[in-house]
Amino acid sequence: MKTATPHFFTLSRPIRPTWCRTMLALVMLALFTTLSCQAQDVIPLLLTTKFSPGASDCDHNPPPPLEIRQFDATTYVLRESLCVTDEAPFMYLIIGSTRALLIDTGDVADPKKMPLAQTVLRLLPAKAGLTLPLLVAHSHRHSDHREGDVQFRGLPNVEVIGHDIDSVKTYFGFVDWPNGEAHIDLGGRIVDVIPTPGHNETHVAFYDRTTALVFSGDFLMPGRLLINDKQADLASARRMAAFASQHLVSYVLGGHVEINDAGETFSWGATMHANEHVLPLTKKDLMALPEAVEHFNHFYTHYGSFIMQDQLFVPPFLTLAAPDSLVLLGSTH
Ligand SMILES: [Zn+2]
Ligand SMILES: [Zn+2]
Repeated sequence: MKTATPHFFTLSRPIRPTWCRTMLALVMLALFTTLSCQAQDVIPLLLTTKFSPGASDCDHNPPPPLEIRQFDATTYVLRESLCVTDEAPFMYLIIGSTRALLIDTGDVADPKKMPLAQTVLRLLPAKAGLTLPLLVAHSHRHSDHREGDVQFRGLPNVEVIGHDIDSVKTYFGFVDWPNGEAHIDLGGRIVDVIPTPGHNETHVAFYDRTTALVFSGDFLMPGRLLINDKQADLASARRMAAFASQHLVSYVLGGHVEINDAGETFSWGATMHANEHVLPLTKKDLMALPEAVEHFNHFYTHYGSFIMQDQLFVPPFLTLAAPDSLVLLGSTH
Protein backbone atom coordinates (compact mmCIF):
# COMPACT_ATOMS: atom_id res chain seq x y z
CA MET A 1 0.00 0.00 0.00
CA LYS A 2 1.50 3.34 -0.98
CA THR A 3 1.12 5.88 1.74
CA ALA A 4 1.43 9.61 1.49
CA THR A 5 1.72 11.42 4.79
CA PRO A 6 -1.84 11.71 6.05
CA HIS A 7 -2.92 15.33 5.92
CA PHE A 8 -4.39 15.15 9.39
CA PHE A 9 -0.89 14.65 10.81
CA THR A 10 0.56 17.70 9.10
CA LEU A 11 2.05 20.26 11.48
CA SER A 12 1.30 23.91 10.97
CA ARG A 13 4.47 25.25 12.68
CA PRO A 14 7.93 23.91 13.61
CA ILE A 15 8.85 22.79 17.11
CA ARG A 16 12.39 23.79 18.11
CA PRO A 17 13.75 21.47 20.83
CA THR A 18 15.32 18.36 19.33
CA TRP A 19 13.90 15.98 21.97
CA CYS A 20 10.45 17.38 21.34
CA ARG A 21 10.77 16.81 17.60
CA THR A 22 11.96 13.27 18.31
CA MET A 23 9.06 12.57 20.66
CA LEU A 24 6.63 14.05 18.19
CA ALA A 25 8.05 11.92 15.40
CA LEU A 26 7.61 8.83 17.55
CA VAL A 27 4.03 9.76 18.38
CA MET A 28 3.28 10.43 14.70
CA LEU A 29 4.86 7.10 13.77
CA ALA A 30 2.77 5.34 16.40
CA LEU A 31 -0.40 7.02 15.19
CA PHE A 32 0.43 6.27 11.59
CA THR A 33 1.26 2.65 12.40
CA THR A 34 -2.00 2.33 14.31
CA LEU A 35 -3.94 3.72 11.35
CA SER A 36 -2.13 1.42 8.95
CA CYS A 37 -2.76 -1.61 11.16
CA GLN A 38 -6.41 -0.73 11.47
CA ALA A 39 -6.71 -0.42 7.72
CA GLN A 40 -4.83 -3.67 7.15
CA ASP A 41 -7.00 -5.45 9.68
CA VAL A 42 -10.20 -4.72 7.82
CA ILE A 43 -9.16 -4.41 4.18
CA PRO A 44 -8.41 -8.09 3.53
CA LEU A 45 -12.00 -8.93 4.41
CA LEU A 46 -13.16 -6.80 1.52
CA LEU A 47 -10.30 -7.64 -0.81
CA THR A 48 -11.02 -11.33 -0.65
CA THR A 49 -14.76 -10.90 -0.68
CA LYS A 50 -16.54 -12.16 -3.76
CA PHE A 51 -20.07 -10.96 -4.17
CA SER A 52 -22.82 -13.21 -5.46
CA PRO A 53 -22.21 -14.04 -9.14
CA GLY A 54 -25.95 -13.81 -9.82
CA ALA A 55 -27.44 -16.66 -11.80
CA SER A 56 -27.78 -17.76 -15.42
CA ASP A 57 -31.40 -18.58 -14.67
CA CYS A 58 -32.73 -16.15 -12.10
CA ASP A 59 -36.08 -17.91 -11.84
CA HIS A 60 -34.45 -20.80 -10.04
CA ASN A 61 -32.63 -20.22 -6.75
CA PRO A 62 -32.05 -16.48 -7.18
CA PRO A 63 -29.63 -14.94 -4.67
CA PRO A 64 -30.94 -12.52 -2.01
CA PRO A 65 -31.89 -9.14 -3.54
CA LEU A 66 -29.41 -7.19 -1.46
CA GLU A 67 -25.95 -8.17 -0.30
CA ILE A 68 -24.34 -6.44 2.67
CA ARG A 69 -20.66 -6.42 3.53
CA GLN A 70 -19.17 -4.72 6.56
CA PHE A 71 -15.90 -2.93 5.95
CA ASP A 72 -15.65 -1.99 9.61
CA ALA A 73 -18.08 -1.38 12.48
CA THR A 74 -19.49 1.80 10.91
CA THR A 75 -18.93 1.32 7.18
CA TYR A 76 -21.12 -0.90 5.01
CA VAL A 77 -21.08 -1.94 1.38
CA LEU A 78 -24.43 -2.89 -0.15
CA ARG A 79 -25.00 -4.40 -3.57
CA GLU A 80 -28.16 -5.06 -5.51
CA SER A 81 -28.45 -8.55 -6.97
CA LEU A 82 -27.78 -9.19 -10.64
CA CYS A 83 -31.04 -11.14 -10.67
CA VAL A 84 -33.05 -8.05 -9.69
CA THR A 85 -31.14 -5.55 -11.85
CA ASP A 86 -28.35 -6.37 -14.28
CA GLU A 87 -26.79 -3.02 -13.33
CA ALA A 88 -26.07 -4.54 -9.89
CA PRO A 89 -24.93 -1.20 -8.43
CA PHE A 90 -23.05 -0.76 -5.18
CA MET A 91 -24.12 1.59 -2.41
CA TYR A 92 -22.23 2.70 0.67
CA LEU A 93 -23.37 3.49 4.20
CA ILE A 94 -21.03 5.57 6.37
CA ILE A 95 -22.03 6.12 9.98
CA GLY A 96 -20.78 8.96 12.20
CA SER A 97 -21.74 9.86 15.76
CA THR A 98 -24.48 12.34 14.85
CA ARG A 99 -25.68 11.17 11.43
CA ALA A 100 -25.06 8.72 8.64
CA LEU A 101 -24.46 9.09 4.92
CA LEU A 102 -25.83 6.77 2.24
CA ILE A 103 -24.11 7.12 -1.13
CA ASP A 104 -26.58 6.12 -3.90
CA THR A 105 -29.88 4.27 -3.69
CA GLY A 106 -29.52 1.80 -6.54
CA ASP A 107 -31.61 0.83 -9.51
CA VAL A 108 -34.83 -0.49 -7.95
CA ALA A 109 -37.69 1.62 -6.62
CA ASP A 110 -40.06 -1.14 -5.48
CA PRO A 111 -39.36 -2.05 -1.83
CA LYS A 112 -40.96 -5.46 -2.38
CA LYS A 113 -38.25 -6.31 -4.91
CA MET A 114 -35.48 -4.42 -3.14
CA PRO A 115 -35.88 -3.71 0.59
CA LEU A 116 -33.19 -1.02 0.60
CA ALA A 117 -34.56 1.62 2.98
CA GLN A 118 -35.73 -1.02 5.43
CA THR A 119 -32.28 -2.63 5.40
CA VAL A 120 -30.37 0.64 5.75
CA LEU A 121 -32.54 1.83 8.65
CA ARG A 122 -31.95 -1.48 10.38
CA LEU A 123 -28.19 -0.95 10.13
CA LEU A 124 -28.38 2.50 11.74
CA PRO A 125 -27.91 2.93 15.49
CA ALA A 126 -31.05 4.03 17.33
CA LYS A 127 -31.64 6.16 20.41
CA ALA A 128 -34.97 6.40 22.22
CA GLY A 129 -36.73 4.72 19.34
CA LEU A 130 -35.31 7.08 16.72
CA THR A 131 -32.66 6.01 14.25
CA LEU A 132 -29.63 8.20 13.62
CA PRO A 133 -30.41 10.97 11.08
CA LEU A 134 -29.58 9.84 7.55
CA LEU A 135 -28.38 11.92 4.61
CA VAL A 136 -28.87 10.36 1.18
CA ALA A 137 -26.49 11.60 -1.54
CA HIS A 138 -25.65 10.39 -5.03
CA SER A 139 -22.48 9.77 -6.98
CA HIS A 140 -24.42 11.10 -9.99
CA ARG A 141 -27.89 11.37 -11.40
CA HIS A 142 -28.09 8.22 -13.57
CA SER A 143 -31.18 6.28 -12.62
CA ASP A 144 -29.31 3.15 -11.51
CA HIS A 145 -27.92 5.23 -8.63
CA ARG A 146 -31.11 6.95 -7.48
CA GLU A 147 -34.18 4.82 -8.27
CA GLY A 148 -34.37 3.85 -4.61
CA ASP A 149 -34.78 7.49 -3.51
CA VAL A 150 -38.55 7.02 -3.30
CA GLN A 151 -38.10 4.56 -0.47
CA PHE A 152 -36.43 7.24 1.65
CA ARG A 153 -38.47 10.33 0.85
CA GLY A 154 -40.79 11.30 3.68
CA LEU A 155 -39.14 9.06 6.25
CA PRO A 156 -38.47 10.75 9.60
CA ASN A 157 -34.87 11.82 10.18
CA VAL A 158 -33.98 11.26 6.52
CA GLU A 159 -32.84 13.94 4.04
CA VAL A 160 -32.48 13.13 0.34
CA ILE A 161 -30.30 15.48 -1.72
CA GLY A 162 -31.66 16.26 -5.19
CA HIS A 163 -29.85 14.62 -8.10
CA ASP A 164 -29.88 17.47 -10.66
CA ILE A 165 -26.79 19.62 -11.09
CA ASP A 166 -28.30 22.70 -9.43
CA SER A 167 -29.29 20.71 -6.35
CA VAL A 168 -25.81 19.21 -6.10
CA LYS A 169 -24.09 22.58 -6.41
CA THR A 170 -26.47 24.29 -4.01
CA TYR A 171 -26.53 21.62 -1.30
CA PHE A 172 -22.76 21.25 -1.16
CA GLY A 173 -22.08 24.96 -1.71
CA PHE A 174 -19.98 24.64 -4.84
CA VAL A 175 -19.59 28.18 -6.20
CA ASP A 176 -16.91 27.41 -8.82
CA TRP A 177 -17.94 23.94 -10.07
CA PRO A 178 -16.10 21.70 -10.81
CA ASN A 179 -13.41 23.30 -8.66
CA GLY A 180 -13.32 23.20 -4.88
CA GLU A 181 -14.33 20.61 -2.33
CA ALA A 182 -17.25 20.25 0.05
CA HIS A 183 -17.29 18.51 3.41
CA ILE A 184 -19.99 16.48 5.13
CA ASP A 185 -19.67 16.33 8.92
CA LEU A 186 -21.18 13.11 10.26
CA GLY A 187 -20.03 13.80 13.84
CA GLY A 188 -16.41 12.83 14.43
CA ARG A 189 -16.23 11.72 10.84
CA ILE A 190 -15.69 13.99 7.85
CA VAL A 191 -16.45 12.99 4.27
CA ASP A 192 -15.01 15.16 1.52
CA VAL A 193 -16.96 15.68 -1.70
CA ILE A 194 -14.95 16.26 -4.88
CA PRO A 195 -16.56 17.13 -8.26
CA THR A 196 -15.76 14.51 -10.91
CA PRO A 197 -17.88 15.31 -14.00
CA GLY A 198 -17.12 13.52 -17.26
CA HIS A 199 -19.13 10.30 -17.04
CA ASN A 200 -21.98 12.59 -16.13
CA GLU A 201 -22.13 16.32 -15.42
CA THR A 202 -23.40 15.77 -11.86
CA HIS A 203 -20.75 13.27 -10.82
CA VAL A 204 -18.93 13.63 -7.51
CA ALA A 205 -16.53 11.37 -5.61
CA PHE A 206 -16.52 11.00 -1.83
CA TYR A 207 -13.52 10.58 0.46
CA ASP A 208 -14.01 9.25 3.98
CA ARG A 209 -11.16 10.54 6.12
CA THR A 210 -11.75 7.83 8.75
CA THR A 211 -11.22 4.82 6.49
CA ALA A 212 -9.29 6.66 3.73
CA LEU A 213 -11.73 5.09 1.27
CA VAL A 214 -12.54 6.85 -1.99
CA PHE A 215 -16.07 6.21 -3.29
CA SER A 216 -15.73 6.80 -7.01
CA GLY A 217 -19.16 5.90 -8.48
CA ASP A 218 -18.99 5.32 -12.23
CA PHE A 219 -16.03 7.66 -12.63
CA LEU A 220 -13.62 4.83 -11.78
CA MET A 221 -14.54 1.18 -11.24
CA PRO A 222 -13.57 -2.31 -12.40
CA GLY A 223 -15.56 -2.13 -15.62
CA ARG A 224 -16.33 -0.03 -18.65
CA LEU A 225 -15.64 3.64 -18.01
CA LEU A 226 -18.33 5.36 -20.04
CA ILE A 227 -17.21 8.87 -20.90
CA ASN A 228 -19.66 11.54 -21.93
CA ASP A 229 -17.26 14.50 -21.91
CA LYS A 230 -13.57 13.68 -22.35
CA GLN A 231 -12.20 17.07 -21.33
CA ALA A 232 -14.31 17.18 -18.19
CA ASP A 233 -13.36 13.57 -17.39
CA LEU A 234 -9.66 14.29 -17.90
CA ALA A 235 -9.84 17.33 -15.64
CA SER A 236 -11.63 15.20 -13.03
CA ALA A 237 -9.02 12.45 -13.31
CA ARG A 238 -6.26 15.00 -12.76
CA ARG A 239 -8.17 16.56 -9.87
CA MET A 240 -8.57 13.19 -8.16
CA ALA A 241 -4.96 12.21 -8.78
CA ALA A 242 -3.86 15.50 -7.21
CA PHE A 243 -6.18 14.83 -4.27
CA ALA A 244 -4.86 11.29 -3.87
CA SER A 245 -1.25 12.50 -3.96
CA GLN A 246 -2.02 14.57 -0.85
CA HIS A 247 -4.03 11.95 1.04
CA LEU A 248 -3.81 8.45 2.35
CA VAL A 249 -6.00 6.23 0.17
CA SER A 250 -6.82 2.75 1.40
CA TYR A 251 -8.99 1.70 -1.54
CA VAL A 252 -11.17 3.05 -4.31
CA LEU A 253 -14.69 1.63 -4.37
CA GLY A 254 -16.84 2.20 -7.46
CA GLY A 255 -20.44 1.87 -8.56
CA HIS A 256 -20.31 -1.45 -10.46
CA VAL A 257 -18.09 -4.42 -11.26
CA GLU A 258 -18.27 -5.36 -14.94
CA ILE A 259 -15.13 -7.38 -15.57
CA ASN A 260 -13.87 -10.80 -14.53
CA ASP A 261 -10.56 -11.69 -12.92
CA ALA A 262 -8.91 -11.69 -16.35
CA GLY A 263 -10.08 -8.14 -17.05
CA GLU A 264 -12.66 -9.24 -19.65
CA THR A 265 -16.00 -7.45 -19.72
CA PHE A 266 -19.26 -9.26 -19.08
CA SER A 267 -21.99 -8.92 -21.71
CA TRP A 268 -24.32 -6.00 -21.23
CA GLY A 269 -27.42 -7.24 -19.46
CA ALA A 270 -25.72 -10.37 -18.10
CA THR A 271 -27.33 -11.70 -14.93
CA MET A 272 -24.36 -13.97 -14.24
CA HIS A 273 -20.87 -12.68 -13.45
CA ALA A 274 -18.62 -15.75 -13.28
CA ASN A 275 -15.24 -15.10 -11.64
CA GLU A 276 -16.11 -11.48 -11.08
CA HIS A 277 -13.25 -9.05 -10.33
CA VAL A 278 -13.07 -7.88 -6.73
CA LEU A 279 -14.63 -4.50 -5.98
CA PRO A 280 -11.65 -2.49 -4.63
CA LEU A 281 -9.32 -0.60 -6.91
CA THR A 282 -6.23 1.12 -5.57
CA LYS A 283 -4.53 4.47 -5.27
CA LYS A 284 -2.25 3.30 -8.08
CA ASP A 285 -5.28 2.95 -10.36
CA LEU A 286 -6.45 6.43 -9.40
CA MET A 287 -3.02 7.91 -10.11
CA ALA A 288 -2.86 6.12 -13.50
CA LEU A 289 -6.27 7.29 -14.67
CA PRO A 290 -5.27 10.71 -16.14
CA GLU A 291 -2.80 9.11 -18.56
CA ALA A 292 -5.43 6.60 -19.66
CA VAL A 293 -8.07 9.27 -20.27
CA GLU A 294 -5.52 11.31 -22.24
CA HIS A 295 -5.31 8.36 -24.64
CA PHE A 296 -9.09 7.96 -24.99
CA ASN A 297 -9.94 8.26 -28.70
CA HIS A 298 -13.56 9.35 -28.11
CA PHE A 299 -14.86 5.94 -29.27
CA TYR A 300 -13.33 2.94 -27.56
CA THR A 301 -9.90 2.65 -25.98
CA HIS A 302 -8.36 -0.16 -23.97
CA TYR A 303 -5.36 1.39 -22.25
CA GLY A 304 -3.57 -0.62 -19.58
CA SER A 305 -6.28 -2.02 -17.35
CA PHE A 306 -8.74 0.72 -18.31
CA ILE A 307 -11.59 0.16 -20.77
CA MET A 308 -13.04 3.48 -21.91
CA GLN A 309 -16.04 3.92 -24.17
CA ASP A 310 -18.03 6.87 -25.38
CA GLN A 311 -21.40 6.78 -23.73
CA LEU A 312 -23.48 7.12 -26.89
CA PHE A 313 -21.46 6.55 -30.02
CA VAL A 314 -20.18 3.19 -31.23
CA PRO A 315 -18.74 2.99 -34.77
CA PRO A 316 -19.94 0.07 -36.94
CA PHE A 317 -16.52 -1.64 -37.13
CA LEU A 318 -16.47 -1.83 -33.36
CA THR A 319 -19.85 -3.52 -33.20
CA LEU A 320 -18.42 -6.29 -35.39
CA ALA A 321 -15.37 -6.66 -33.18
CA ALA A 322 -17.29 -6.40 -29.94
CA PRO A 323 -20.90 -7.53 -30.34
CA ASP A 324 -21.69 -6.54 -26.76
CA SER A 325 -21.28 -2.92 -27.81
CA LEU A 326 -24.39 -3.19 -29.97
CA VAL A 327 -26.42 -2.67 -26.86
CA LEU A 328 -24.15 0.09 -25.63
CA LEU A 329 -26.10 2.71 -27.53
CA GLY A 330 -27.92 4.80 -24.99
CA SER A 331 -26.36 2.97 -22.05
CA THR A 332 -26.01 5.04 -18.92
CA HIS A 333 -24.73 2.79 -16.16
ZN1 LIG B 1 -23.60 6.33 -14.52
ZN1 LIG C 1 -24.01 3.27 -12.85
